Amino acid sequence: MSALIDFANKLLARVDIVEVVGEYVPLKRAGQNYRGLCPFHREKTPSFNVSPTKQIFHCFGCGVGGDAIRFIMRIEHLEWVDALKLLAQKHGIPLPEFERRTADKAIQDAKTKLYEVNKLACEFYAANLQKALKDPKHPATQYLAKRKINAELATRFSLGLAPTGWTDFTEAAKRAGFEPETVVGAGLAIRHSESGRVYDRFRNRIIFPICDSLGRPVAFGARVYAPDAAPDEPKYINSPETAIYRKGQVLYGLHLAKDSIVREGYALLMEGYLDVIRAHQFGFTHAVATCGTALTEEQGGTLKKLARRVLFAYDGDEAGQKAMLRGCEVLLEYELGIQVVVLPDPHDPDSYLVEYGTEPFRQLIAKSRDFFDFFLDRAIERFGSGTVAAKVECVQFLIPILQRVRNAVAQREYVRMAARRLDVDEAALLRQLRSKQKSSPQQLAKTLTHATSSEPRSECTLLKLVVEYENMRAWAFEHVVPDWLASSRVRKWFERCRTLHAEGRLLGWESLLRECSDDETDEDARFLREVAFMEGEPVDQLTSETLSSFLARLKRSFFERMVADYCSTLRHLYPEDPEGETWRKMVEELSEHHPALREALLLAQRTSVLRMLPNFGH
Ligand SMILES: [Zn+2]
Repeated sequence: MSALIDFANKLLARVDIVEVVGEYVPLKRAGQNYRGLCPFHREKTPSFNVSPTKQIFHCFGCGVGGDAIRFIMRIEHLEWVDALKLLAQKHGIPLPEFERRTADKAIQDAKTKLYEVNKLACEFYAANLQKALKDPKHPATQYLAKRKINAELATRFSLGLAPTGWTDFTEAAKRAGFEPETVVGAGLAIRHSESGRVYDRFRNRIIFPICDSLGRPVAFGARVYAPDAAPDEPKYINSPETAIYRKGQVLYGLHLAKDSIVREGYALLMEGYLDVIRAHQFGFTHAVATCGTALTEEQGGTLKKLARRVLFAYDGDEAGQKAMLRGCEVLLEYELGIQVVVLPDPHDPDSYLVEYGTEPFRQLIAKSRDFFDFFLDRAIERFGSGTVAAKVECVQFLIPILQRVRNAVAQREYVRMAARRLDVDEAALLRQLRSKQKSSPQQLAKTLTHATSSEPRSECTLLKLVVEYENMRAWAFEHVVPDWLASSRVRKWFERCRTLHAEGRLLGWESLLRECSDDETDEDARFLREVAFMEGEPVDQLTSETLSSFLARLKRSFFERMVADYCSTLRHLYPEDPEGETWRKMVEELSEHHPALREALLLAQRTSVLRMLPNFGH
C-alpha cells in the first residue's frame, strides 16, 4: 500500500484542486479562495469553498471536505483507489505498472478476508453465549434474564459473549487460518504498540454484531454486563472503522427490518441496540437504530430508498431530543415525512415495551405527531410564548428547522402553524425566514449550531496564526499557556502544533489534517478545515498592541472561568448559605494567603463578571 500512498502524494502535488473541482462545480473567485454551490447538499447560497493554496475543499453547509482524491471519491461514488486511478488518468499521469495490476485485487482480497474473520467472530461469540446460557448461574445468563432477553431472541440477533481471556478469539482465528494482521485489521484485536503482542479487543462483554444490509457482520458493539466490572469501564465499546465499516454508514437491524419497512411504508428509528431487539420481539419488525451516532446523510439516503416516512422513537430526555433534531435536519434534505413517537418520560422503547407491551405501543405510534408540531411545543415549553422576547426566541429556534423544509407547500403550512401558535404576524415570520435564507453560509452554519463553529473565534484565530505564519510561532508558544484556551479542541491542536514545532517537523494544514481520521464526519478534520478557511485579518496588520491585547483577553477569560468555577464549587459546598456569607468570608481569607487567587479575583472584579464578590481594593 505504501507505494500507492507515495504515488497519491505525488499526484496531489501535481494536480490543482481548483481545476479538479471546477470540472464539476462552477467556481467563482472569492478573496484567496474559490466558492460555488455545494454538489453534496442542496443549497441556494454558495457555502462550498476551495483553497488553491491549501489544496483542500470544505463545505460550511454540510461539513464535507478534503483533498482532490476525496472530492473525486465523493462525487463519482468511488473507492479511494479508483478515485486515485481516475484522477491520474484525467491528468495523463500513468499509474505505476505493478500497482495497476495488483492494487484492485489486493484490496478486494483483503476485504473478503475481513468479512470472513468477522463472520468467524460472530459465530465464535454466539457459540460462547449459547454455552453460557446453559448455566443459569452464569453472570451473562443472569444479565440477559434481567434484560428479559431469551435464547430465541439472542439467536435472532446473533448476540454473543466475549470470553474473559486476553487472546481467546485471536487464537481461534489463528487456528482457522487467519493472520494476526487480518484480525487487527478487522478491529477484533489490538496490537500493543510497545511489545507488539496482539490481544482481543472485546473481553468479557455481551456482543452485538452490527450487520450490513446483506446481513454480513461488519462491526461489533460490546457491552459490559458483569456485576463486578470496574466502575470506570466504558459501558459500550465498538469496533473501530475498518476497510469494510464506516461509522454512520449502517443502520442497526436493517437486514432484518428492510422488508417490513417496505411493507409498512415507514421506518421506526430508535437509538439503541436493545430498543431494536425489543421492538422486533414485540412484532415491530420495521425498527432500526443509528447506534450511538447522530443520523448521517448516508443513513438518511438508505431510508429514503425504502420508505417515504420515518418515525422517531427516541428517548424523551434532552440528549434524545437533540439527536432527534439533528436527525430531522438530515431527513428533511431527503424530503421524507417525519413524525415523532412521544414516549412518556423516563421511558425508552425497550423499557416501555417491557412494561406495557404491544398494544399500548401501537397506540403511541398511531398518535405520533408531526415533527414540526412537536418541536413547536418544545420551543414553547423551553422559552415560553407570553412575552415578545420569548416569541423571538421561539422563532429563532424554529427558523433553522423551517429552512430545511424543501417542500414549499409544507414550509408555508408550518409557517402558518407557528404564527398561529406563537401569536405572531405570519408575514413577519416569512420575512424573517427569507432574510435568514440570504444570510452568509458562515452565519447559517452558526445558526445550525455545527459543533465546530462554536469554538471561540479568537482562539481559532490563534491556531490559524500558528499554522499559517511561521514567524508567529515562537511568539505564540512562548506567550500563550494552553490552559488559557477555553476550547478543548483548539487547545489540543495548539499543543500538537507546539510539539511538531519543537521537534522541528513540518507544520501546516495538510500535515495536521493527515493526523485526523479519514472519516468524513470526523469532527477534528472538519474543525481544522473550517479554521483553515476562516477569514481573518491579514497578519501584516497585526501590531504588537493588537497582539498584547489579544493575549490579555485570553488570559482574562481564563481567570474569569477559574473564578466562576471556584465560586460555584463553594456555593455547592454551602447550599445552606444561599446568600454566600460563608464563602464570601472564605474567599477573603484565602486570597490573603494566595497571591494568584487574589490576582484572579481582582481581574474578575475589574471586568465585573462577579459583582457579588467582596471588594478587594489594592
Ligand atoms: Zn455541502
